[in-house]
Amino acid sequence: MPELPEVQALAHFLGERTAGLVVTGVELGSISVLKTFTPPPQALVGAPVDGVSRHGKFLDLDCGGTHLVFHLARAGWLRWSDAMPATVLRPGKSPIALRVRFDDASGFDLTEAGTKKRLAAYVVNDPSTVPGIASLGPDPMADSFSLEQFAAIAASHRMQVKGMLRDQSILAGVGNAYSDEVLHVAKLSPFAIAAKLDPSEVERLYTALRGTLATAVAAASGKPAKELKDAKRAGMRVHGRTGETCPECGDVVREVSFADSSLQYCATCQTGGKPLADRRTSKFLK
Ligand SMILES: [Zn+2]
Repeated sequence: MPELPEVQALAHFLGERTAGLVVTGVELGSISVLKTFTPPPQALVGAPVDGVSRHGKFLDLDCGGTHLVFHLARAGWLRWSDAMPATVLRPGKSPIALRVRFDDASGFDLTEAGTKKRLAAYVVNDPSTVPGIASLGPDPMADSFSLEQFAAIAASHRMQVKGMLRDQSILAGVGNAYSDEVLHVAKLSPFAIAAKLDPSEVERLYTALRGTLATAVAAASGKPAKELKDAKRAGMRVHGRTGETCPECGDVVREVSFADSSLQYCATCQTGGKPLADRRTSKFLK
């Protein structure tokens, strides 16, 4: 799933490509992808792209005051084309959920792999009316996001720090991958309770959060959409690297799996050398 750095880079990429263009078509490959009824998608047609911005993991194309907002979810992606195929997209079993065309024949498709369709698009006059945007917590890359603000957030959440980092209503933009990375850099257990972190741990976490995201934003910046997925994967220290070697200490990267996801961490760096209990492994050991 694209997280803050990739969505930021996509916003930048789309902003550059669409500057001065006019929307000439919006086609739906899946009816369920569109979560709003009014204004209709056709309200975008004929409108100039005035800007592209990011809210958490949401992308927002401002087309003459009507906004096309979308969230790529876990398996969604954006595919840009300088010359879109002429065939009109029709609702069906296509992996293409939504197609947007511009007046120079360029455009993009929003695609979604797999059977669980979670990609969501909205056509709205005000992006803050999108429920997932209305409930967003502060953006950790905002200039104003201070250590004091982060410390107050941590102190008020008696929950596992991994869960806190990726809860969009607490912090906007961080997901499963970057929360693993941030915790590895901060040398904290993903299961540590946020409210119980001492001031030096909170500061380490804050510095790791801002630093990890800033590095990833810089790495992703200027890359075309099609290169962002690989760039994200290549930059990971522990996330998605179960069984590989920790770049800090040489221990093996371990995994805890859940019904729907998994996390990766280094026991030597993060949990005092003690592997965390893994439901799946424990079941086999019984
Ligand atoms: Zn390590």
